[in-house]
Amino acid sequence: MNAITPTIPSNQHAAPPAAIELVALTKRYAQGSPAVDSINLRITSGSYCCLLGPSGCGKSTTLRMIAGHESVSSGDILLENRNITNLPAAQRGTAMMFQSFALFPHLSALDNVAFSLKMKGMGKAERHTRAKDLLDRVAMGALAERKPAELSGGQQQRVALARALITQPKVLLLDEPLSALDPFLRIQMRAELRRWQKELGLTFIHVTHSQEEAMALADTMVVMNHGLIEQVGSPHEIYNRPASEFVARFMGGHNVLDTPAGKIGVRTDHMQLTPASQAAPEGPHNQRAVITDVEYQGTYVLLGLQNPGISQSVQTAHTTAELSVMVSEAAFAARPYALGEAVQLSWAPEAAHRLQAERCAPVTATA
Ligand code: ADP
Ligand code: MG
Repeated sequence: MNAITPTIPSNQHAAPPAAIELVALTKRYAQGSPAVDSINLRITSGSYCCLLGPSGCGKSTTLRMIAGHESVSSGDILLENRNITNLPAAQRGTAMMFQSFALFPHLSALDNVAFSLKMKGMGKAERHTRAKDLLDRVAMGALAERKPAELSGGQQQRVALARALITQPKVLLLDEPLSALDPFLRIQMRAELRRWQKELGLTFIHVTHSQEEAMALADTMVVMNHGLIEQVGSPHEIYNRPASEFVARFMGGHNVLDTPAGKIGVRTDHMQLTPASQAAPEGPHNQRAVITDVEYQGTYVLLGLQNPGISQSVQTAHTTAELSVMVSEAAFAARPYALGEAVQLSWAPEAAHRLQAERCAPVTATA
């Protein structure tokens, strides 16, 4: 390229390459509002990206459009700057990892992994060599001849991963891959997925409705709501600076407070409690409240509170909403709070973050 007259702004050279880029991507089913509503997203090459949001927000639809299992209503999908929007699934450079129960029960682990190469007409010796290499990489080489029923849930999951990787995808797509596992195995497999992603250096796009799972796995979290992207960022950024009331509530661990200056979010572990008898004068960084719940959680105690103390002029439906405060076990032991006790909640000004209104109006509940 001509270095004297660059045609691309220099900041674009600095941006890490995108594995996947979604441009105004939209999916409209027959009726109603779009399932995916003109979303724009760049997913950095070699990163672990989690699409996160409540059921029905459009995560699977987005993933299936990337995979080529669902047509696009409008917009584009680029993989390493190549427009793949209208390519068949097999020509995209993506692969979907299906849940372990989708393995063929009558085939060995080796034949499960080699299956798509067989479909492409590759000879037995070569496809078995390739499948064995991949099984070795996921520490399953010794069990290559076993049928799925002879493997543990975690081992089946590794076979499912090897089966997805056999086509040498650039981007691996995973739709709630851990949801069928029991809680213990889920946490174990979560750690394995993360390790494999780093080892393989591939881009993973993982759909989940669990904020805990997304926080544990993601380099980048994409929080979706009603077909729109509410926020994109690292788990740390999103947890510490939720952009909207929706994100703060969905992520959990935050209180949403109505203040004269607008809605703010404060982490439940960043709020202090004072008995009402010792309360400071009311100000912008404190509120009165009454204890309505005391839950012992081991390392901490979670207190539920109602906030009756906002003047009539700013009272809204939200002023009666529950608040939570997380108190360390030691602090609670030193000064226990009782149900019904009046307290003052306070927070440091820097612990409060202004929240944008939701990007789209909440769906009106039908009576
Ligand atoms: P998520 O994976 O986030 O739970 P989906 O992407 O599956 O959500 O669905 C998003 C929205 O699109 C939902 O309202 C869902 O009912 C709708 N939807 C999904 N698939 C279809 C389909 N094949 N036909 C019509 N509507 C669909
Ligand atoms: Mg889904």
